[in-house]
Parts: sequence; C-alpha cells; structure tokens
Amino acid sequence: MDHSAVSSARLDVDVKELLRPVLFGLPERDLDDLTEAAVVRTLPVGAILCEEGEEGDAIYFIVDGRVEIFKQMDDETERFLHTSGPGEWVGEMALLQEGGRTASVRAIEPTTIIEIGRETFLLVLGRSPSLSIRILVRLTGRLRDSDQQAIADLRKANEELTQALQQLERLDRTKTDFIQVSAHELRTPVAALLGYAQMMRNDPTVQGVPKLRTLVEGVVTSTERLHRIFNSILDVSRLMTDGLEVIRSPVSIRVVFEGIPLEFEQVLKQRDLTLEIKGLNDLPVCSGDPDMLYKVFYHLVNNAIKYTPDGGKITVTGRTVDVEDVGRCIEVVVQDTGIGIASQDLDLIFEKFYRTGEVALHSSGMSKFKGGGPGLGLAIAKGVVEAHGGRIWAESPGYDEETCPGSRFVVQLPVLTDSLLSESGESARG
Ligand code: ADP
Repeated sequence: MDHSAVSSARLDVDVKELLRPVLFGLPERDLDDLTEAAVVRTLPVGAILCEEGEEGDAIYFIVDGRVEIFKQMDDETERFLHTSGPGEWVGEMALLQEGGRTASVRAIEPTTIIEIGRETFLLVLGRSPSLSIRILVRLTGRLRDSDQQAIADLRKANEELTQALQQLERLDRTKTDFIQVSAHELRTPVAALLGYAQMMRNDPTVQGVPKLRTLVEGVVTSTERLHRIFNSILDVSRLMTDGLEVIRSPVSIRVVFEGIPLEFEQVLKQRDLTLEIKGLNDLPVCSGDPDMLYKVFYHLVNNAIKYTPDGGKITVTGRTVDVEDVGRCIEVVVQDTGIGIASQDLDLIFEKFYRTGEVALHSSGMSKFKGGGPGLGLAIAKGVVEAHGGRIWAESPGYDEETCPGSRFVVQLPVLTDSLLSESGESARG
C-alpha cells in the first residue's frame, strides 16, 4: 500500500544480503526472486505502513527502526498489540489469509523496510518448505503472545471492575445508611406531629370552627402521608440491606385482608370504586409475618385504586396452586380495570423509585386517580414476598388510558408445611 508518509524510492541497500539471515536456509534462486521484487522504503516516525481493513497485498521485512502493531477499537481508542524491530517481518497474516489487514502498523522510530509483493512471496513460499515452517512457527508464537496479552487484559479489566464494584457497594451502603438514619430520625418527630394534629382535630374548639377544622384536617392528612412515606423508605432500606427479618408464625391471608376494606372504605366510596374479595376463606395457612404481608396487599390494592378511573372495579381472588420447585402455594390475584401497564414496564415497576409515565407528584395524590407515590410500594411488596419464599409478578395486556385494559398482580406464597412450621417455631423462639 502506498501511504503518503512512506517514501517509495529504492534505497541503496543490499536487499539479498539483508534477507539472507532473516530467511535463513532459503535457496539462492528464491532469494533472487524475492530480491528482484523487493522495494525498500523509509518511514518517518508516525507513518502508517498498513491499515486495519485494507487488502493485504505485501509483506514487510524490517531492516532497521521499529514499528508498533495496534488495533482501532469501537470507542475510537487504539489497542496496542506488540512492536517489531530489525530482522522481523510484519503483514504476513493478511497475505496468507487473502483477507483484509487485521491490525495497523505504525513506525515508532525512523524505519527502513523491505516490501515484497504478494504474488512473488506466495510463489516462493509454495516452493520452500523451510519458509512455510518459519511462517508457521512465527504465527504460532504470535497466537501465544496475543493469548497471553488477552489474558492479561482480561485480568486487568476484571480487577478494575472488581474495584469499581467494591467502590459502588461502599457508596451504596453509605447512601442506604444515610437514608435509613434520616428516615428514622425524621419519622419520630413526624409521629409526634401526627399525634398532636389528630388531638387537635378532635378538639371541640377546632370542631366548632369550620375553617379551622378544614385546616387541621389538611395538616393531619399531610402528616399521615409523610409518616407513611418515611415508613416505606425505612422498609425499603431494610430490604436493601438484607435487614428484613421475617418473624414467622402461621398466617391466615383472610385475616390479613380483614383490615383492607376498612382502610380504603372512604376512598372507594369517594371514587365510586368496587372492591370485591373472594376465595380467601378456604385458603390454607401460610407461614410469615402478618404485618409485613398486610403491607404487600395494602400496596397492591392502593395501586389498583390509584391506577383505576372512577367507577372501576378491583377484584381480589384467592386460590391454592401447585408451583414447580416450590410446592403448594396460596395465590392471591389483585386485578383492576385500570389503565394497564406497558409490557416493557412489567418487571421494571418492581424496582425501587421506578414510576411509569407522568404521574402527579403532589402529596395529596395518595389515592387519587394516577396520584403520585414515591415509587416504593411494589419494591416493598416484592422484597416482602421474596423474603417469605414467594413470588410476585404483574400481568397486563398493555397501557391504555382510553380503553383501560387493566392489570393483574399475582402473589404466590408457600403453604405452611411441617418443615416450615418447625422453622416458624425456631425463628419465633430465636
Ligand atoms: P408508586 O408509589 O408510584 O405507586 P409503586 O412501586 O407502587 O410506586 O408502583 C410503581 C409504578 O408501577 C407506578 O408508578 C405505576 O406506574 C405502576 N403501577 C403499579 N400498580 C399499577 C396498577 N395497578 N395499574 C397500572 N400501573 C401500576
């Protein structure tokens, strides 16, 4: 290849005598043929002798100086492979493969090379077993070198990744600790505030002044929400630090659900939503923490309410199923007639702080249609269900606010067996 920085003038060097030691043992006739076809070139520092991808139409013997062989990476950086100096040759690979160059070659010192065109070189190679063996030995050596280089690169990349991971884990722990401590510290005064606000709401003086009653009602609602958010943040930070301790006891899902209709009674009425609960009475007992399990269904029903337009229906259905690798399970499905969930979000919504679309963010939106939440409910639900050895997932035909295809959230929890019962006993004692 004729690169501009490469001088193509024939230099006054004795090519045959230079090639002789390099191609040691080659018959005179072959040396003569190679010498006849050779062109001697000089390269200044930085000149590109051949470039990755271009056709391999010559082999280069280095007389003096030094070249580096490198590859262009996707991110525009260069990956250094090796250097070659006097008595070595480069460029034979593409020549033999009849393909493009697999790497580029650049002079890193003023360099003189002997260039021999492909046709002549292959002709001589065909006649000379010793030259073929030499090329084989050289190629094998190169393969070994590049293997070792690749292993060293991988090892280095692995070390860097491990360090980065450790650094990220440290940062994540610090962040989680910070969140946990802050939420804990803030929840205490908020709990006190809530208590005082509730007392104020019940005070006859406040009750007697409509304007004051409305204001205090606002304070109570906002403080309740703040309290709930801090509780959720604490729940999530416990899940993140594996600090979620399931104190197991036999749990009836029917009993867990008893508080749910009462909890949402007001909003269901306000928004003309129907909540139907069926099939829970005959469910077997499972093993777990009833307060935590209550949170799971609280968040699922709360979401069903939030993402279903007024007049819609939420149906909770319980049944027993056999699950592969888990055994007999209680399955509770919370189904709504709401806006649905796009298929690409079905898994992501269980990530903490993940919310789809544009949701309202103001604090009074807790059970309003599409009212915003902190994006923690499903992360908590998933963490709690998994800590109980169960599974949770979402199903939906898609997201459409016009047709409201609805969503189904399925929770499966292992039925209490003798072995779980003994575990319950142990953890209850422990
Ligand atoms: P948020 O506090 O935002 O409700 P969640 O973790 O409970 O946080 O839910 C995450 C996201 O999943 C919600 O922002 C919403 O986009 C989507 N989502 C959850 N439940 C439903 C549902 N029943 N119907 C439609 N979308 C839902």
